[in-house]
Amino acid sequence: MLITRCITCGGQQLLSVVETVEIKVDGSLMVIDNLKLTKCNNCGEKYLDKKANDYIDKKVKEKQTQQSSPAE
Ligand SMILES: [Zn+2]
Repeated sequence: MLITRCITCGGQQLLSVVETVEIKVDGSLMVIDNLKLTKCNNCGEKYLDKKANDYIDKKVKEKQTQQSSPAE
């Protein structure tokens, strides 16, 4: 889905940026580097497309694989 207008503020200046974002995964904060996303130039609202979500999924899975020791 291509967003042409910010849902939050209605701004039309949507930028493609590469950022480091923090997301919550299973209650713990995870940092995702080099995530391509769309950002509103006006209010800073971030929009993740399918590719961005896939990228996050991949990173989360990688992390979960690394942490093979059982939690508690
Ligand atoms: Zn906005």
